[in-house]
Amino acid sequence: MSATIEMRDSPAAVTLITKLYARFVLAGFALMPACLIAYLFFFQDLTLRFENHLFHEIAIAAATLEGLFVAYVTWQCYRSSGEPLLRWLTLGFLGFVLIYALHGAFTSMAHHNIWLFLLYGPASRLVMSALLLVGLLSYSQPADSIERRTDWRGWLKWIALFVLVDLAVAGIAYSPVAGTLAVRLSMEGGAMILSALNVLVLLLRRIRTPLMVMFGISVTSFALSSLAFILGRPWNHMWWLAHAIFAGGFFLLSYGVVQAFHTTRSFATIYSQEELMARLAEAMNRAESALQELQRTNDRLEHLAATDPLTGAANRRQFIERVEAEIERARRGGAPFSLLALDLDHFKAINDAYGHQAGDTVLREFVQKCIEAIRPYDGVARVGGEEFMVLLPRAGLDAALATGERIRSMIASSVFGAGSGRCGEVTVSVGASQFGRDGDTIDTILRAADERLYRAKHLGRNRVVVA
Ligand code: GH3
Ligand code: MG
Ligand code: MG
Repeated sequence: MSATIEMRDSPAAVTLITKLYARFVLAGFALMPACLIAYLFFFQDLTLRFENHLFHEIAIAAATLEGLFVAYVTWQCYRSSGEPLLRWLTLGFLGFVLIYALHGAFTSMAHHNIWLFLLYGPASRLVMSALLLVGLLSYSQPADSIERRTDWRGWLKWIALFVLVDLAVAGIAYSPVAGTLAVRLSMEGGAMILSALNVLVLLLRRIRTPLMVMFGISVTSFALSSLAFILGRPWNHMWWLAHAIFAGGFFLLSYGVVQAFHTTRSFATIYSQEELMARLAEAMNRAESALQELQRTNDRLEHLAATDPLTGAANRRQFIERVEAEIERARRGGAPFSLLALDLDHFKAINDAYGHQAGDTVLREFVQKCIEAIRPYDGVARVGGEEFMVLLPRAGLDAALATGERIRSMIASSVFGAGSGRCGEVTVSVGASQFGRDGDTIDTILRAADERLYRAKHLGRNRVVVA
């Protein structure tokens, strides 16, 4: 099961055009509210007003709850990732909620002191856009320390500051300057400029991760909503549209926060889809080659577990497995097979005369010569110190005798001890047995070959015994 991800190549022009198109569409989407503003600006009937206090109160209450929820989720993200941007975002949402809530709360004061009702709106947007801008300037800065993330006093100070802003706005609302254009414009215009600065910073810093693209569209909406508030009059359609544009931006930004919450809890480390695909492909390639390496290691281990380290011949375990497979085959009606049991003659004397190392060399060379003397599908196994077995599939006792004799004469006429000096004469005694004829279990045929080997020893060694 191997699923690989292919990064499809397309003509460079198509890639470029689709990228440009994506940017164009995003910009168009971000600026869509401008069309609505222009439409109302040119075509709205100035006499149309929708002054419904209850509706306004419900809408602002909903916005307050939504803002609190988003501030909480952002704060959770900040607590995990420690990203400074998320700290400022949390503060931005919190400040917005604590100031904007009074805009709703004082709805019924609209006829008593219109400014007490109106000024909390631009004040909340001014505070939030300022905090978002500071946050954006801290984008991709190192994460805050754990102590800082869990420091309650820092948050309380900010909450106190927001309450002070609330009091200051009330103070302004009751002051003679409240009604001047300068007050309202400096707040709403300030919010608009700060939001526009957010967009500018994003563009200049070329920050294009998906969540920051959402951030960009949201702050564009905030800037446009401030524009609509400036152009609108309380309760007219432009004024309501301004609320809706702001809500749209807020919803999108909150969607980004929730995305971060469900993934990396960070705005900076959410990769673009292209990057994710590339990383996935890379990770899958790595996994694939690790798997191949594992397979190779497994094969090596299997080989090691099945072979004798000194001579490279199969070990007893492997030999028994192969014999069992041959028995199965023979029982299913295949041709009979035979075994040779081999034991080097007076090997102890070779060790004594030339040393143990020379003895090892003889064992290695013995296996090589055996392999030369047998067919490719026959197998040699080292089953004891200087004891070996040869498996001869599809060979009767006659063929076993011929092979045993070939090995014996080859060994007797060979010179052993390549490199380390001659090791005198080496001979081998061989006993043979055939499956079916000398037994039909592994034990009986092994015993028969062993008995014949011992007879070969008794008869004077350097010989093959088959019966
Ligand atoms: P026989 O002809 O009766 O088989 O005489 P032998 O000396 O070969 O038989 P014996 O079983 O008495 O001795 C086997 C010797 O093989 C004893 C041991 O030191 C030697 N031997 C066993 N394994 C190794 C090995 O891995 N390396 C070396 N160099 N010698 C080994
Ligand atoms: Mg022996
Ligand atoms: Mg021996």
